[in-house]
Amino acid sequence: MTLRYSTDIVIFGGGVAGLWLLNRLHSEGYQPLLIETKALGSGQTLASQGIIHGGLKYALSGSLTGAANVIAGMPRRWRHCLTGDGDVDLQGVPVLSNYYYMWSDGNLRSRLKTFFGSKSLVGRVEGVKRDDYPDFF
Ligand SMILES: Cc1cc2nc3c(=O)[nH]c(=O)nc-3n(C[C@H](O)[C@H](O)[C@H](O)COP(=O)(O)OP(=O)(O)OC[C@H]3O[C@@H](n4cnc5c(N)ncnc54)[C@H](O)[C@@H]3O)c2cc1C
Repeated sequence: MTLRYSTDIVIFGGGVAGLWLLNRLHSEGYQPLLIETKALGSGQTLASQGIIHGGLKYALSGSLTGAANVIAGMPRRWRHCLTGDGDVDLQGVPVLSNYYYMWSDGNLRSRLKTFFGSKSLVGRVEGVKRDDYPDFF
């Protein structure tokens, strides 16, 4: 049996990128078709730890890489979604922490990475006072 579809745009892959794009295109009036070989969200998306980061991970060398700059606006974007003001309404999603904590394990290399990473992202990273450490620490 041959199935025939008429569509403006075909998206391959139903991970977060494909689903986000599908939603965006729908809201702009297009009729996109998404094709997924396995199950929606079955790729890296299912493996994600759910951390919304703004680039620190990609700035640990001490210099701001292109990737670190590109994702700098992500926390703001996701926060808008979590309050229902963004591209996707995520008001029902439980938030486990409002901050992304990073710490060194004490060895020199790890401490230097944390130090240079935080220097390269001045304004986006703050030190945490001992009294404000989360219970975990
Ligand atoms: C262990 C782990 C932890 C992570 N933690 C975080 C985190 O905390 N925070 C964060 O921001 N990012 C995290 N990431 C990264 C994040 O999960 C990915 O950047 C993101 O999920 C990628 O989404 P994607 O839609 O591009 O790809 P995927 O989620 O991999 O989706 C691709 C989809 O395409 C489908 N597909 C492949 N080929 C075809 C084809 N030919 N036709 C049709 N479908 C096809 C696959 O089946 C899959 O479902 C993590 C990644 C991993 C692996």
